[in-house]
Amino acid sequence: MEPLVVRLRNRGWRLTAQRRVIAEVMAGEHVHLAADEVFDRARAVLPEVSRATVYNTLNELVGMGELLEMTHADGRKRYDPNVEERHHHLLCVDCGRMLDVTADDPSLPDDQRHGFELLGIEVTFRARCPACVRATATPS
Ligand SMILES: [Zn+2]
Ligand SMILES: [Zn+2]
Repeated sequence: MEPLVVRLRNRGWRLTAQRRVIAEVMAGEHVHLAADEVFDRARAVLPEVSRATVYNTLNELVGMGELLEMTHADGRKRYDPNVEERHHHLLCVDCGRMLDVTADDPSLPDDQRHGFELLGIEVTFRARCPACVRATATPS
């Protein structure tokens, strides 16, 4: 998968300094950040970045299909730059860490569709990551 900033440059998206920093924050694998986290990380690199610009840019990128917006079992809205590979998510319910995983889609038999037209499938595996399991393990 090409990094978001490269995809945006190839599309001719106007990369201002603020937009570039936001796109760079969203680079890499297993990136699933809430808007506030994007803002904090962008501001660490470019102190003059504004919260409004972060929110507007994220919305614009969702509209362009370059970010997925998702709300998961823990109720937080996150942005995911992995729009090219179909994937599901492994979510640590304790710390919120979220990884991309590939797994077969669950199937919904016709007689369970109630006439609905299926638009997509999102699977979240609710789990606890090794660090959280370790943190709550009873010392022996
Ligand atoms: Zn965890
Ligand atoms: Zn993802």
